[in-house]
Amino acid sequence: MLTYSEVIVLRDKLASGEIGLESAQAQYWKDFKEGQKSWHTKDWKERRSEMIKDKCEICSSKDTLTLQHRSHPKKYSEYLSDVTRAYAEEYRNTNPVIDKYEFTTYVLKKYDYVPIPFCPNCKWSNPYERVRKIPKYRCLGCRHEFDNPVYKSVDELISIFYENEEALEVRDKCFVSKEWRNKNNLSNIRYWLQRDRARNKDAETIGKEAFLLYLNDSIQYLSFDDTITACKKCAFNFDINKMELCPKCNQYYKGLQYPTCIQCLPEEKRKAALESIEFGKDWREMHRELGID
Ligand SMILES: [Zn+2]
Ligand SMILES: [Zn+2]
Ligand SMILES: [Zn+2]
Repeated sequence: MLTYSEVIVLRDKLASGEIGLESAQAQYWKDFKEGQKSWHTKDWKERRSEMIKDKCEICSSKDTLTLQHRSHPKKYSEYLSDVTRAYAEEYRNTNPVIDKYEFTTYVLKKYDYVPIPFCPNCKWSNPYERVRKIPKYRCLGCRHEFDNPVYKSVDELISIFYENEEALEVRDKCFVSKEWRNKNNLSNIRYWLQRDRARNKDAETIGKEAFLLYLNDSIQYLSFDDTITACKKCAFNFDINKMELCPKCNQYYKGLQYPTCIQCLPEEKRKAALESIEFGKDWREMHRELGID
């Protein structure tokens, strides 16, 4: 695993083009597993001991001090999909028109078409199916009653889509992705086609941009910049309970998302908060007694 300064050198070499993406990734991920603890390395331990303060920055206790990160880095795959999405948007804006034949080929190759019934009288799909009455179907759009619904071919649907993307007939998600098994309509499929194309066209650029963001994040994490020295109790509350000491009273803990602890809330709000906590306790108690818990 690379040390802090080695990651910085790697990032700079990749950014300047001195090394390529493949080589940078190979160096960074050599004997690296996602989730592996960087604090097992010697470099980490040494730099940590320089950063850690001699007392808890929250409550001033000296009991088992740890260095807590306030934020955690994103995964490379998360950056990759963020950047890919941005490039797909860009591609969509600059290439709004797709050849109809190419689109049809893409649809047939990647999706299973599951035809849905249409009313023979209007453009509504999925007529109401009656169990006992004859004729069997009743259109929810025009109230026409009929025995034989109409089905449309993929070509027909695509032609309608090319004439009017908003047409009623092309709204149903009747295409099932062969790869992901999720349902799509033609408009969804066009998005995935554009995303695929953007990704293939700019694969190297997208990968590099995402990897640079990822490296910067890792550098930020390894720098200990956004850390706080915490005692055992405060660290536990911070990490597990998402709580920190209330800045107003410095006595009770509060959720990270709240400005103060419950005790320090204005009278009205405190009452409401305490009542909802009591209610939660009663609720859990009842569940325990009933054996639902
Ligand atoms: Zn503390
Ligand atoms: Zn109808
Ligand atoms: Zn307080």
